[in-house]
Amino acid sequence: MEPKQALKILTDLISIETVDQNESQVADYLTHLFVPFADRAQLKRISFAPGRDNLLITVGTQGPILGFSGHEDVVAADKDQWQTDPFVGTMRDDRIYGRGASDMKSGLAAMVVAMLDLLASNQPLPGRIRLLATIGEETGEYGANQVVQQGLVDDLAGIVIGEPSNLQLEVTHKGVIDYCVTSVGLASHASKPEAGQNAIWPLILFAQKVHDYFEQATISDPKLGQMTHVLSQINGGEQINSVPAKAQLTGNIRTIPAYSHKQIYQFLDNAIEQINQADDAQLTIEYRYPEPPLPDQSHNKLVLVAQGVLQNKLHLPGEIIAGTGATEACEYVKVPNMPILVCGPGEGISDHQDNEWVSIKNYLLGCQFYEELAWQFWKDQLAK
Ligand SMILES: [Zn+2]
Repeated sequence: MEPKQALKILTDLISIETVDQNESQVADYLTHLFVPFADRAQLKRISFAPGRDNLLITVGTQGPILGFSGHEDVVAADKDQWQTDPFVGTMRDDRIYGRGASDMKSGLAAMVVAMLDLLASNQPLPGRIRLLATIGEETGEYGANQVVQQGLVDDLAGIVIGEPSNLQLEVTHKGVIDYCVTSVGLASHASKPEAGQNAIWPLILFAQKVHDYFEQATISDPKLGQMTHVLSQINGGEQINSVPAKAQLTGNIRTIPAYSHKQIYQFLDNAIEQINQADDAQLTIEYRYPEPPLPDQSHNKLVLVAQGVLQNKLHLPGEIIAGTGATEACEYVKVPNMPILVCGPGEGISDHQDNEWVSIKNYLLGCQFYEELAWQFWKDQLAK
């Protein structure tokens, strides 16, 4: 495909405003690109909510399936802070500006360009590619969760997630546990505290226990470092001269594979129970969007093949890196033994910021990377 056409696909995708809604329009747009190849591309829509469709496109008829994962949604943009319209893909010098230019409409577009090029080449394909264009990644990986639950990932021989990594090989990242603890007490006048029950004290006891636990959790992952915990919000009390009847705190834990989420829940649940029993408190805990970490993939075949492609075909460093934030890999790790790699175009400097951009060179390298990766991955799988 001509670079001009490949760039048009990216700018078209940027112009579809998909801030936590509207992903079906991306699905419609992608569907129309594959119309000329209807005989060799199978499309499947998985609806999450009205206007919010995941789209799966499988090309090829036989052989090992390589998954391409790209989310259709983007984070919000404050138009007043931008130098260009965030929902118009704007070419300036050697960059494309727009919301999602890096995270990750460039990754999604590059995967689609690679698939269209493979189909247009009219060569017999020894394997298959399945694109998973998903909804709601930025707010909780809902789309990836849905396709995993429906078993639509089970037959993949490996999956590459096109999040912006500047075409470096992200082989591991931390997981997340968000929790919220609510404490209920009984209000009374502060001059008669014995008539009430202070809702704040049990939270302080809880915070201290959690603090001690994380102080002792010193195992360090070779690539990710230590697990971290941030006590992120605390709210409580009604006024200065009343015993508080309600209080709440939230925390954010960034997990590593050495500590299972199960053991962390067990610790937190036990802490709540102990305080409730010993101190006659009423604490409850709620977990929000927990996502497991991506364990080190640096020795899987997909990563090794991708590194070969980056170094030998594209003359890039193909560096192995560890990520900071969660990706859809948190959902895909639920499929046992499936090789996972996070690798996409997008320098990653401007993600979620005003004036987000991707360099044209990096994007076009991404298109080439995914196409070459498919050939080399199939070859490797079939050589077994
Ligand atoms: Zn992303």
